Amino acid sequence: MKLQQIFNTEAPNQSTRIIEGECSGILNWNDIRMPHMYKLYKVLLLNHWIADEIPMSKDAQQFARLDPEEQRVFKINISLLAVLDSMQTMFVGDVKRYFTDSSLEAISAIIGQQEVVHNQSYSYVLSSIVSDQEQKEIFEYWKKDPVLLERNRFIADIYQSFRDEQNPQTFFHAMVADLILEGIFFYSTFAFFYNLARDQKMMGTSQMISYIQRDENQHCYFFAEVFKQLLVDFPELNSKENIAYVYRTIDEAVQLEINWAHYTLSQIAGIDLNELENYIKYTANKRLTLMGMDKAYVGVDVNCMPWIKPFSDDALNSTKTDFFEAKSRNYGKVGDDNGFDDL
Ligand code: ZN
Ligand code: ZN
Repeated sequence: MKLQQIFNTEAPNQSTRIIEGECSGILNWNDIRMPHMYKLYKVLLLNHWIADEIPMSKDAQQFARLDPEEQRVFKINISLLAVLDSMQTMFVGDVKRYFTDSSLEAISAIIGQQEVVHNQSYSYVLSSIVSDQEQKEIFEYWKKDPVLLERNRFIADIYQSFRDEQNPQTFFHAMVADLILEGIFFYSTFAFFYNLARDQKMMGTSQMISYIQRDENQHCYFFAEVFKQLLVDFPELNSKENIAYVYRTIDEAVQLEINWAHYTLSQIAGIDLNELENYIKYTANKRLTLMGMDKAYVGVDVNCMPWIKPFSDDALNSTKTDFFEAKSRNYGKVGDDNGFDDL
């Protein structure tokens, strides 16, 4: 697959195809092929946040008082998130170079930066609650824990295939893997942290998780738009085999996420695993809809765990600071007109 040329005076400013197309390389937000990308760009900027600005002193005290199972699950989930976001930073960088569309390349740059911020937040949380030595150990879990290894390898193999060999078909596979990572693979973990927050525990961490979820929602929107446009630009990819691949791969991911929920959350009070299983399928359906495809799971049309959602900025700002330990600083507001929170 050809890389976007840095400088191409012969090509039009508006891209002709998202990959393997023609594009001069200049970025003019008022002259792009997919105009709604400008709106997304602005939303991504408004969502900017920095981990260090979230106070963690109360979390540090509370962590010591969590029961051992909650501590174990807390640590292994932070470890999972750290691996997912590390892979994601590399992957978005890979994809970015092959877009033959300046606006998609530009948005990838911002998404990549946000993944780095997510990674920093995990180091930041851990440095607030455990020793340096333990932090290093937690960042090693992914190499040995068999359940963690299986679910991470599932995505890593698809991403690696694209890194090793770039063509529209491996790009297609990679888009599906991306939507799984950003749109399905975080959700048992979000459930765990928000469940703690429902008991007023580890609120600084949950605020961070909330910002991360908000970012991931936008990333899903972006890659789903890319996925749909890919099928328009490369109709041959819209084949029976590829559609079957999407459903098969998403179903494997759903099973892995359910396994993870059983592995980590079975002893956690307040989380009903049957409900969570339905929630994961409900979420997978939402991702399929976003990709312009039919739902795969029946009987899960109602969100049975509505509390798994980012705290809204209004809620964060109107809540007493000692409750969320939030700084009064107002991060960009995401409202009906500029947000995609309901994706
Ligand atoms: Zn992320
Ligand atoms: Zn992301």
